[in-house]
Amino acid sequence: MNSMKALASVVLLSLTLEAAAEETMPTAQQIERDEILSLTALAVVYRDWQKAPITADSRGHNIGSILVDKDSTPVFWARNAANKTDNASQHGEVRLIQNFLNCPSVGKYAKGYTVYTTLEPCAMCTGLMTLTRVSRVVYVQADPGFGHARDALKKINYPNVFDQYSPSDLDQKKALEAGFQNYSQGKENPSITDFLLTVEARNAFSDAEKQLSDYKAIYPENAAIVANAQAFVNKVPGVEGEDHLPDYCPTK
Ligand SMILES: [Zn+2]
Repeated sequence: MNSMKALASVVLLSLTLEAAAEETMPTAQQIERDEILSLTALAVVYRDWQKAPITADSRGHNIGSILVDKDSTPVFWARNAANKTDNASQHGEVRLIQNFLNCPSVGKYAKGYTVYTTLEPCAMCTGLMTLTRVSRVVYVQADPGFGHARDALKKINYPNVFDQYSPSDLDQKKALEAGFQNYSQGKENPSITDFLLTVEARNAFSDAEKQLSDYKAIYPENAAIVANAQAFVNKVPGVEGEDHLPDYCPTK
C-alpha cells in the first residue's frame, strides 16, 4: 500500500468511527426489524404503482412512507400525491406526518416514532420531520441529488434532528441504487422520479412485496412484527380515493 492510500484509509476509518459514535448503532434484531419495515414501505408504494406516462389522473411519484411506533408497529402510511393534488409539497413524508398529526387522538408531535421511507428525504421533508420531532428515519434508496438534507441540518447544530439509518444489506436498496446509477449514464440531469417509473424500479418494489409476504424472521421476537406489517400492508388501498388518509387514523 502506498502512503497516499494508507492516509486515505486512515481518514476513511476515522470518518466511519466518527459517524458510528454519533449514531446509535442498531442491534442485529433492530437491523432485521428495519429490513421488515423498509419492505413494508416499499410494498405500500407498490400497491398503487404509477406507470409512465404520468397523466392528469396519476397520483404522483412512486415514493411513500410509513410511520412506526416504539413497538415497531406501523400506525400510518402515505404516498406522494403531488400530481393528483396539483401541489408540489405533497411528498410522502409531508402527507404522512401532516395527516397523522391531524388525527383526533394524536398530539402535536411525532416524538418516539420512526418514519420508514422509500427514498432519502428531501430538504422540505427533513425540515418538517425535524420540527415535528420524529425520532428516527430509515430510508431505502439514497438520493444523490436531493438527499443529504439531514446531514446539513446536523452540521449547523439544528435542534431535534432525528437519527437516520439506511439498511445497506437490503437487496432492494442495492437494486434501486445500482439501477439509478445505470439509468444516469450519459444523462445530463438524470431524474430519480423518472427512474422510479422504469420496469427495473418496479421489479425492486414488487420483490419487496413478495419478500414481505414470505418473510420468516430469524429472531423470534420479530415474528409478531412481521405479522403486523403484513396485515398493515393488506389494509392499504391500491388506487386511492379523495381525502382517504383520515380514515386510517389510529383509534386508540
Ligand atoms: Zn420530500
